[in-house]
Amino acid sequence: MKTIANFLRPDEAQLLRLKLHSCGIRSSVQDENVTQLNPWRMWATGGVRVQVADEDLQAAQIFLERERQSKTELKPQPVNGGLECLSCEAEIPLGQSRCCACGWSYKDHG
Ligand SMILES: [Zn+2]
Repeated sequence: MKTIANFLRPDEAQLLRLKLHSCGIRSSVQDENVTQLNPWRMWATGGVRVQVADEDLQAAQIFLERERQSKTELKPQPVNGGLECLSCEAEIPLGQSRCCACGWSYKDHG
């Protein structure tokens, strides 16, 4: 097992576990009970750890990277008439057909 994330709150760790599960990645939450019984111990143990199997590590890291990007890029939802890139799901501004994030274009794909 490999630790992919640490949380100070068990519910945050469980939320990540559920998200991973929805992507087909099995994970387990470690030290959840210890943290609940002895909150002060979370500082010593590093908090609640979310672990995945070694073979799922890469998929989990890709998932986390996407999660991180979606949080740092808190862009507004596409406005009326705007488009969403069908390749990388970035927003394509109204009046443009080419994605500035990956270069994909609606024109190239009909
Ligand atoms: Zn794109």
